[in-house]
Amino acid sequence: MHDLVIRGGTIVDGTGAPRRIADVAVDGAKITAVGRGLERARREIDAEGLLVTPGFIDIHTHYDGQATWDPHLTPSSWHGVTTAVFGNCGVGFAPVRPGAAPYLINLMEGVEDIPGTVLAEGVKFDWESFPEYLQALEAAPKALDIGAQVPHGVLRFYVMGERGADHAQAPTDAEIARMGALLEEALKAGALGFTTSRTIKHRAKDGRLTPSLSAREPELLGLAAAMKRAGRGVIEVNSDFGPGEFEVLRAAAEVSGRPLSVLLLQVNNAPELWRDTRAHIHAARKAGIDANGQVGCRPIGVTMGLETTLNPFATHPAWKAMHYLSPDERYQRLKSDPELRRVLVEQRPDDEYTRETESRLPRTYVMDASYDYEPHPSQSVAAQAQAQGRSPWALALDALMANEGKGLLTHTFENYSEGSLEVIREMLVDEATIMGLGDGGAHVCTVCDAGSPTFLLTHWARDRKRGPGLPLEFLIRKQTRDCAVGYGLNDRGVLAPGYKADINVIDFEQLRSLVPEVVYDLPAGGRRLLQRAQGYRHTFVAGTETLRDDEHTGELPGRLLR
Ligand SMILES: [Zn+2]
Repeated sequence: MHDLVIRGGTIVDGTGAPRRIADVAVDGAKITAVGRGLERARREIDAEGLLVTPGFIDIHTHYDGQATWDPHLTPSSWHGVTTAVFGNCGVGFAPVRPGAAPYLINLMEGVEDIPGTVLAEGVKFDWESFPEYLQALEAAPKALDIGAQVPHGVLRFYVMGERGADHAQAPTDAEIARMGALLEEALKAGALGFTTSRTIKHRAKDGRLTPSLSAREPELLGLAAAMKRAGRGVIEVNSDFGPGEFEVLRAAAEVSGRPLSVLLLQVNNAPELWRDTRAHIHAARKAGIDANGQVGCRPIGVTMGLETTLNPFATHPAWKAMHYLSPDERYQRLKSDPELRRVLVEQRPDDEYTRETESRLPRTYVMDASYDYEPHPSQSVAAQAQAQGRSPWALALDALMANEGKGLLTHTFENYSEGSLEVIREMLVDEATIMGLGDGGAHVCTVCDAGSPTFLLTHWARDRKRGPGLPLEFLIRKQTRDCAVGYGLNDRGVLAPGYKADINVIDFEQLRSLVPEVVYDLPAGGRRLLQRAQGYRHTFVAGTETLRDDEHTGELPGRLLR
């Protein structure tokens, strides 16, 4: 008798193979059989008409702090994610010297928009070395598996002190050796990779550019040599890909003999640049280097509401004058005072923020229940306002006032230069890409894309209207086995005997993402945007049910990956 049989579901097994009707048997933490007519189990789930897939693997999150206080890692766990990897983009919380936490918080707050007050209250920092941090993660209760990576900026600060926070400062040979030794130690203790940021988009809260921005060859190759000694780990890079950049990263990959994973996305000021990067990735692969691009499945959206980090009126004196009001009081004031609304719309401040916001309105959309993340440019706030013969600012304010002041706008910040997701389709079908731009746990009140695994299935396999979709089998493989293989997690990502019993049972017809909402559930009462899903009937982690009908069961079978 098995522990669990999920009976008669439509199996999409993560390999890309065509779907088939079959049972899945689980004993302990593993899948033990997949086939028709399996013997009885202590627990039976009737999955007729439901989709049965491997648990989703999200390799690009920033739960470095949240993993120490939130066993459920929401929102990811609401979207079928059973493995989350963090420590990306060169920022994180270990190693850390006693008293150095404020700098790391400042860096995380600036780069990933996680409020410093939240981190200061939520993260205990009762570790110094990376292995000690892994111990703390191991001891923390968790519903899903987590994996940590060593962040370059943090390593630099630990070894070089204040000089390390300045990207223009080069480490001495002794400092490079010290960083290498610490990286080797961390990888041997179970870190899944080494991550670095080389983008001017990343700044610490104090305004300084990210510490690893311009690290040169001796430093990168010294760290790569440490990875070779350790014989494990992925190199993850977030870069602007200026001239010569990929060559440096490729050299690091060659020296380390480790996989290279770079963020691949379309930026508006150079919409074709990602194609060059992709060509470099392909050339590296041809030369035998394990390289891939991490891609998203929808526009990277900057979400704006009356309660989010950014809103179109943030610098308006009439808005700032309401800073002492609660969100609800502010909404009531706006609602009851037409003169206030008129002033907000008509007497805009002459400042950089307002000009920038105005320039974004042609790429900004109302994010209501019908929003499908692939809006036609004629639906933008600017275009709609023009069609209606009114001010786009008035339209924006109305949208934010909708739903009792909970209305949202989204600015399609990246991956949407042409106003369609064809560019994303091209990225998705490329065999050199893996899923990885959800950024779970980061940009908590600005960007809300950690629900991407749900959207990947609903939009691309079912709902897309403005172009062709993609086969479900292909998409599931992309979110499961491909991510597992990319990070050397060879025990998961496939529904087959011997694999870890991380399983989703999904009502695919009903599957959908809900409209994001602002909630105040972080430590110190911090706010964040959350997006929930409907349609996840069951999620199992290591054979234990962690989600039932979209709600957590309270079971905590997750483990730290080492
Ligand atoms: Zn990131």
